[in-house]
Amino acid sequence: MKKIALLGATGSIGQSTIEVIKRHPEEFKVVLASAHSRTEELLNYGNEIPIDHFVITGENGVGISGHPGNIHKGEDALLSLLEEIDYDIMLNAVVGSAGLKYTVAGLKTGHNIALANKESLVMAGDIITELAKENHCKIIPVDSEHCAIMQCLESAKDKSHVRRIILTASGGPFSNLRLEAFKNITLQDALQHPTWAMGNKITIDSATMANKGLEVIEAHHLFNVYYDEIDVLIHPQSVIHSMVEYIDGSIISQLSFPDMKLPIQYALSYPDRFDATAQYTDLAKIHELTFYKPNFEKFPLLGMAFEVGKNGGIIPTIFNAANEAAVTLFLQEKIHFIDIPDIVEKELSVPNIYNPDLETIIEKDKEIKEKIYTNY
Ligand code: NAD
Ligand code: MG
Repeated sequence: MKKIALLGATGSIGQSTIEVIKRHPEEFKVVLASAHSRTEELLNYGNEIPIDHFVITGENGVGISGHPGNIHKGEDALLSLLEEIDYDIMLNAVVGSAGLKYTVAGLKTGHNIALANKESLVMAGDIITELAKENHCKIIPVDSEHCAIMQCLESAKDKSHVRRIILTASGGPFSNLRLEAFKNITLQDALQHPTWAMGNKITIDSATMANKGLEVIEAHHLFNVYYDEIDVLIHPQSVIHSMVEYIDGSIISQLSFPDMKLPIQYALSYPDRFDATAQYTDLAKIHELTFYKPNFEKFPLLGMAFEVGKNGGIIPTIFNAANEAAVTLFLQEKIHFIDIPDIVEKELSVPNIYNPDLETIIEKDKEIKEKIYTNY
């Protein structure tokens, strides 16, 4: 039985993870579940499956009382538990830069990480992959594209046999909208994702295609590939989750109905496989699979992410922080959809800091967000 520390348990990925665990109670056990808010929802999981420790990291955790002694409050309590308790794998489904310190804490104590929090890798990919190596830990992607790539790479006898990685993207709700109409996009429009049901932040990132940009940087770090070996391809059905092209022209892909329960389960069962929690895929119901090139003019954050990734150093942290702040402002309806890429771009023309340490990265993330929030 695998013992799991589930961070971000009340979110979209967290809820799907609970479904996977309920389906396989003999295989998985949650020893810790954390959330930032929605305390009742977190504690209710305890009525569905056995959970040893609950942690509320946000402000509203402070007032909880009347529950047994396994409820902990605050980020420090979570960090201490991650050092003290016995677990096999952390599933990090915290949203945004807040997830970085937990990825680091898990790796430093020698734990494998099932990583949904792609922001960790975008901000500190070099540090995290090095930490994983030093501590003999695996980082197993939960992101569906990277889960697909990991499976497609199993055909690689040698890394030199890989020609390129093809990251597929649904294109989001605006792939067919004319650029001139982007100025009228409302929050409600942007929250309607055509194929995936996800948390608000990643849903907006999918609408701007910043999400695919973050995933390009994530792929670079996870699979140790150059940026010019990564292509993005729009595939509106979200059935092919990504592909790897080999030097002989073979393209290997992984297919399934879009449902995050599959990559979550694979990340937890890896290298094993268990019966599906998500429904099996009936290809006859899909009828057609289509592909086309992304439009970099309509989605400038995608092109920016390639540049940012190539620059390296502190620039990906700035990109990520500015994007997170801009998305927060958009979710609060303080800015327009088309302001998001502009806000991010403005922050990028600064002298780089190469090989930043973790403190510098965390400081810069805070500084950029505070700066943007005070301007709006
Ligand atoms: P969500 O907003 O639905 O849930 C976020 C979770 O993190 C919640 O449990 C929340 O309480 C917790 N949280 C929020 N702020 C926190 C903080 N400061 N400290 C600690 N915990 C905090 O988000 P989601 O859609 O589940 O996404 C989670 C992560 O997974 C993101 O990094 C996202 O990019 C990635 N991801 C999500 C999907 C998806 O389908 N939702 C797919 C691929 C990758
Ligand atoms: Mg993805």
